[in-house]
Amino acid sequence: MRAILLGPPGAGKGTLAEQLVKHYPIVHVSTGDLFRYNIKNQTELGLKAKSYMDKGELVPDSLTCDMLKDKLQTLDKDQGFLLDGFPRNVYQADVLEDILKELGVELDLVINVKLDDEIIIERLEGRRVCTTTGTIYHIKYKKPKVEGISDETGLPLVQRPDDTREVIEKRLKIYHEQTAPLVEYYQAKGKIFDVDNSGTADEAFAKVKARLDS
Ligand code: AMP
Repeated sequence: MRAILLGPPGAGKGTLAEQLVKHYPIVHVSTGDLFRYNIKNQTELGLKAKSYMDKGELVPDSLTCDMLKDKLQTLDKDQGFLLDGFPRNVYQADVLEDILKELGVELDLVINVKLDDEIIIERLEGRRVCTTTGTIYHIKYKKPKVEGISDETGLPLVQRPDDTREVIEKRLKIYHEQTAPLVEYYQAKGKIFDVDNSGTADEAFAKVKARLDS
């Protein structure tokens, strides 16, 4: 399966991806995670991306598309993948078409995760991340066993610099202006599967699983 997880920041794409890769033989390819990996390792790409990310802006298309292409080229041809956070605009979607054509593979499905902005703001402001494993927690909805501490590593959880209210609002604005038009783009190709994520993560996963297994 080759799929895209589409949806606003904070709609639960990362959590859904964690569940999907546990159940299906697919690789999770998150451009946000790839950028954060580069920032952590202080690569040239990471240094360039950081200023955009901290402000909640999109990293320029050229950097993002090159990074994604490099990543997809490292995968075996029959390896399924789940793109998370890419494409973010129509230009990137067109580039993705070209990359897939070059690789000789087809996109199967676009999972469109839906959630209202107010819920997103509450979820993102409370989000905390284990920087070692990437596991996502929430101060109210997915608490670690010990407050502020990763269950897996025992190290402090952190708040992403772009999970502050001001930056979240900017990211949502950019989503509505640039990314939301992709719903129609993929609808026209008959690839969209809508998932409402206002319930629990397990409920959203069950809906996607039912679709994928059908
Ligand atoms: P995410 O983890 O998907 O919310 O992404 C975090 C940040 O990484 C975004 O706010 C952007 O600054 C950057 N980013 C991730 N994916 C892309 C993309 N496809 N195009 C441009 N910037 C991106």
